[in-house]
Amino acid sequence: MTNETIIETTNLTKIYGRRKVVDSVNLSIKRGSIYGLIGRNGAGKTTILKMIAGTAAPSFGTVTLSSDENETYSLKRKSMGTLIEDPGLFYEMSAFDNLKMKAIALGCYDKNEINEILSLIGLSNTGKKKAGKFSLGMRQRLGIGLALVGNPKTLILDEPINGLDPQGIVEIRELLLKLNNEKGITILISSHILSELSRLVSHYGIIDHGCILEELTADELMNKCSTRLEIATDNPSLTAEVLKEKGYVNFEICENNRIRIYERLEEAASLNKLLVEKGIMVSHLAVNSTDVENYFLDITGKGGLKNA
Ligand code: ATP
Repeated sequence: MTNETIIETTNLTKIYGRRKVVDSVNLSIKRGSIYGLIGRNGAGKTTILKMIAGTAAPSFGTVTLSSDENETYSLKRKSMGTLIEDPGLFYEMSAFDNLKMKAIALGCYDKNEINEILSLIGLSNTGKKKAGKFSLGMRQRLGIGLALVGNPKTLILDEPINGLDPQGIVEIRELLLKLNNEKGITILISSHILSELSRLVSHYGIIDHGCILEELTADELMNKCSTRLEIATDNPSLTAEVLKEKGYVNFEICENNRIRIYERLEEAASLNKLLVEKGIMVSHLAVNSTDVENYFLDITGKGGLKNA
């Protein structure tokens, strides 16, 4: 992954009738990352993806694609493969012919490239079998294959694992990791299925009621969900100084003035004693951990997201 921003939205807003369904969304997606847009049904994920893909016009705000000034706007759009809502398969056609049709429409038909896509999406051996006879997982993979026609640098995928059985979910996850690792494709994926995104994405954007509540990396999320010592004192800044003096580095002061320490948890009792000796009143001290599901519940309110 590089530090280069490949997709940036600024104050992206969509109003349907009188309803603001996407509200001033600022997203920054780095080249080579897998960015997971996560939120419950109706949160506004599809609408954001459509505006980024250029199939819905923003009411306000802008979408900026890649920082490569040499590329024209239409070239940048062409370098984006999308699977939003229905993959638009021709059910009477084979996987190969579906891909061929798309390639012809884009003016880039090359038999070898189609075969390469078929192999990537694990549908090489489907021969003349019609797409209408495929399992849901195979159809989803073919949908991703269609998005891959034209060799895009970025994939925009709206809930591609929705409704799949566990085997289908694993196949899509492995496919996306392969596309990211081996082909360097940046992926923007939406989902309400936490357990699946958590094994896939490098960055999260948490969305609720059209607003991005938080953007964080997978490491930051793991850190927030890891086991930690949580303390509350009457003087958080002095507590932080004492911690630094004692060689603690991996800690943070949270919004509620509680301090979370992610190291040397076994020293909780002696730390408590030390703080008291320094004249600091400790009103709470406990070792806590949060699982990913509960973290999202806390952020989005107890209406919550659905786990797979
Ligand atoms: P889901 O997973 O259910 O599709 P989502 O997070 O993708 O949820 P959106 O599809 O973006 O959410 O919809 C956000 C809100 O905008 C919803 O309340 C939806 O009813 C509304 N909406 C979406 N498209 C339109 C439209 N064309 N006209 C009016 N309202 C719309």
